[in-house]
Amino acid sequence: MEYFALPLQNLIEEFEKLPGIGSKTAQRLAFFILNQPKEKAKKFADAIISAKEKLCYCSVCQNISDKEVCSICDNPTRDHSIICVVESPRDVLQIERTNEFKGVYHVLHGAISPMDNVGPDDIKIKELIARIGSGDVKEVIMATNPNLEGETTAMYISKLIKPFGVSVTRIAHGVPVGGELEFADEVTLSKALKWRVEL
Ligand SMILES: [Zn+2]
Repeated sequence: MEYFALPLQNLIEEFEKLPGIGSKTAQRLAFFILNQPKEKAKKFADAIISAKEKLCYCSVCQNISDKEVCSICDNPTRDHSIICVVESPRDVLQIERTNEFKGVYHVLHGAISPMDNVGPDDIKIKELIARIGSGDVKEVIMATNPNLEGETTAMYISKLIKPFGVSVTRIAHGVPVGGELEFADEVTLSKALKWRVEL
């Protein structure tokens, strides 16, 4: 049974696909857009298209960037011999907020999770290994989330890296077990980085 005119129904369904949006919220958002002047609605639609078209993965660290090489990888004052490996671009932001880390990053875009059918080839592991293979890297800090998937990923990657003679460390104290990096406060995360352990 159709409750709304088709274009409105479509808009509601698109909002429902967004994470954390239930059907009631989707309806509220759709009606909000509907009540906006046409230019505002267009600006919103354009922002979505433009983000998809103009953003790419940095060719070095795989973080989301609007340039081929992102501003962190491009920065000569950063220590390019230390790579901090994280699961998502939001983790980079969170660690940057601590002002504690002066190395560079590698964004995996996920973690190994057999339950969700995510294997090593589904995340940016081979790009990381290629970086390490090209030399100059002294230390890799595994800053994946302290949950089952994050630990599995950290162990898997550390085994791949060790033959290169590069030191592999893991963030430790402070980050709650079973939690996610994204939700850790700056002080906790900063401690976790400082007290990292050899893997
Ligand atoms: Zn980069």
